[in-house]
Amino acid sequence: MSVPHYPLHINGEWVDTDDKYEIRSPATGELVATVAKGGVAEVDAAVAAAKAAHAEGTWRNTPPAERAALINDVALRLGGRLEELAALQTRENGVTIRVTGALHIGLSVAQMQYLAAQAAEYEFEKSGPAIGPVPAEGILRREPLGVVAAIVPWNIPLLVIVWKVAPALAAGNTVVLKPDEHAPLIALELMKEFEAAGLPKGVLNVVVGDGEDAGAHLSAHPDVRKVAFTGSTAVGKSILAASADTVKQVTLELGGKGPNILLEDADLDVAIDGAIYACMANNGQACEAGTRLLVPSSRRDEIVDRLVARVGTMTVGDPMSLATDIGPLITAEQRDRVLEHIAIAEAQGAKVAAGGAAPEGAEFANGNFVQPTVVVDVTNDMRIAREEVFGPVLAVLTYDTVEEAVAIANDTEYGLSAGVWGTDEEKVLDVARQLEAGMVFVNDWHVLHPAYPFGGYKQSGLGREGGPDALDEYTEQKYISVDRSGGVE
Ligand code: NAD
Repeated sequence: MSVPHYPLHINGEWVDTDDKYEIRSPATGELVATVAKGGVAEVDAAVAAAKAAHAEGTWRNTPPAERAALINDVALRLGGRLEELAALQTRENGVTIRVTGALHIGLSVAQMQYLAAQAAEYEFEKSGPAIGPVPAEGILRREPLGVVAAIVPWNIPLLVIVWKVAPALAAGNTVVLKPDEHAPLIALELMKEFEAAGLPKGVLNVVVGDGEDAGAHLSAHPDVRKVAFTGSTAVGKSILAASADTVKQVTLELGGKGPNILLEDADLDVAIDGAIYACMANNGQACEAGTRLLVPSSRRDEIVDRLVARVGTMTVGDPMSLATDIGPLITAEQRDRVLEHIAIAEAQGAKVAAGGAAPEGAEFANGNFVQPTVVVDVTNDMRIAREEVFGPVLAVLTYDTVEEAVAIANDTEYGLSAGVWGTDEEKVLDVARQLEAGMVFVNDWHVLHPAYPFGGYKQSGLGREGGPDALDEYTEQKYISVDRSGGVE
């Protein structure tokens, strides 16, 4: 079977380049597709196209309800291809088919529909209160920013793209999207659907390229008015620094080290499964994962025994199988980094209670697999408790009082997600209110919803995506005062 090739999309054209990426399955090494590799020249062409399309004005002058209808049309087109796109995503980044179907494609479709509905209702212009003492009134307007750059990672590509591209387009901006070079295919499939739905040329451009080359150039480009970035905290900081020169707006969705507190009265029949799901969904490669499990010392042994037993029943392997719980990590380097994190934890005094290595066997020989791993006797000063591991590795810490649990939970430079499990709702909510995180999950995890904002406190980021205020992040506010005391009729 021939392997598909994807060009870039610039100014309404599919554009090839001299260089290309090979996209290989992280499970088998099989060649999935080739993709044109863009660099500084392609970024410049894409930004110029987006700038020209904004100046020309067709898209920003399209009535908001029509823009919303086009976005809704694209959502339905994606939904109609759900199984095919989920399979493509799984082949490309190794996330299990159950998760790519429900979360990557399914939730992205719902998020697009929600944003389209929000855009159709959004007040782009309204009268403000009267301004005294002269007979004057104000008009409040929300206007598009201009060229928006969206720079995204490989772990949940479509959803993080939709969080940026849908509100940016709904608000009348033009966009240059730079997908991650490891998993760019879904972005190019999305582009095909926008083209089929009739988006004017230059309004959305997709340039795949290396981060330090195409990404850095795009994020510093003087004609870009906003950078919306999802990725590592280190790169997020460099993007924030690069934005200073031309005072760009910036949204950052960065890393996390989510604390998950099991209270004394937690129902372990649900909390054990929940703790594993919190940490290991998406093969453990989720920024909002619950990676630090905080358990009461009094129940530590019972909890660890049950975690180890449960992890032992998990299936590692072919991510295309509905029976698989854990697929491969994105690259061999990432697998090695995860194994190194486990080794460092052991060297610092923690113990591996389950997993801890790459699985053995012929079916794993060409993939980047790591067994689901439970590391115990972790203290919050160890590297495994402070740094993102980005693999199926759960660190178990103990606490003696709820005050201590909250202190350990908040003792991190991150603040994306947190969770609490317990059966007394008042107590659980009391703890939830004390946690320094943008999202707190009670008796569950990964409960992402289009109508609620996604984002973090502290070094987990700046701004929020999705939720009720999504379009505010992609508009400038303008105040016009109209004095009716004489000059203006
Ligand atoms: P990364 O920061 O290396 O890459 C993300 C994107 O940035 C890619 O498109 C990459 O090409 C680009 N990039 C790399 N260097 C760049 C530079 N110097 N200038 C501009 N762009 C550059 O991220 P990663 O390690 O591949 O992805 C995983 C990280 O993403 C984790 O830290 C994870 O927590 C984070 N993440 C956060 C969220 C969130 O919403 N908070 C969601 C998913 C992933």
